[in-house]
Amino acid sequence: MNALRQEIRACRLCADRFAQTETAHEPRPVVWFRPGTPILVAGQAPGARVHESGRPFTDPSGDRLRHWLGIGEAVFYDRDRVSIVPMAFCFPGYDARNADLPPPAICRKTWHDRVMQDLGRVPLTVLVGGHAHKFHLGARGSVTDTVRNWRDHAPRVFALPHPSWRNTAWLKKNPWFEAELLPVLRTRVQEVLND
Ligand code: SF4
Repeated sequence: MNALRQEIRACRLCADRFAQTETAHEPRPVVWFRPGTPILVAGQAPGARVHESGRPFTDPSGDRLRHWLGIGEAVFYDRDRVSIVPMAFCFPGYDARNADLPPPAICRKTWHDRVMQDLGRVPLTVLVGGHAHKFHLGARGSVTDTVRNWRDHAPRVFALPHPSWRNTAWLKKNPWFEAELLPVLRTRVQEVLND
């Protein structure tokens, strides 16, 4: 493991913040990237299940995301093919209503420039959720607007909604996402994997 990844894995900057959440957990950075991968999945933050497993997207959101990408676990978890870099490397915890807290900004400010530099140019970046849209595209509108305008950034970048079950109603309301965007995304995934 290179020095940067070791540094992130040892990071405890949010220990006090996490201790004050409903979950009162300790930081556990989930570090899953390597320079030279053809695909970068830029997500939001690990959920509670990923905090336990230590592997990204080991939850129903991951199943849906792999379905969207048209790849199985063998490819998704191959670190020579897919890097996974969320806006925060640790589970942010739950608030008093049991909802996920947002990724702490200090993580992005501390690590992201160095991580992006380490990754170099990636042929395909998949942005998962509004936080990643804002950081990577400077998006200011709604998630729906950003995803609807996916052709503005394809084929190098695809902006997706978060694959959480909470967005199942969104998927039903926006059938163009599965009918138009996903087939192009899956073709692009195969292109960069086979390049
Ligand atoms: S979320 Fe980021 S900044 Fe906070 S402890 Fe984890 S790795 Fe460090």
